[in-house]
Amino acid sequence: MRPGPPKPPFFVAPQKTRPDFQDLEASELFCPKCRKAVPVRKRLLLVLPEGDKFDYICSFCSTPVGSKLEKEGDRNS
Ligand SMILES: [Zn+2]
Repeated sequence: MRPGPPKPPFFVAPQKTRPDFQDLEASELFCPKCRKAVPVRKRLLLVLPEGDKFDYICSFCSTPVGSKLEKEGDRNS
């Protein structure tokens, strides 16, 4: 009778969820007008067949600082 293979150490995944990590989207982007990284607001711009287009707006001067196409497949819902 042979002893089984040694069991790997049992790692417990940390269950703490930091609120910062709940939203993995960009929350700060560089604004050319403010000349610094600014908190941004996400705004739904267009709903396309291939996904939803979002705009990131500087929360200080409302300049669009980025956009993103969220594809159907990327969504977890
Ligand atoms: Zn700005």
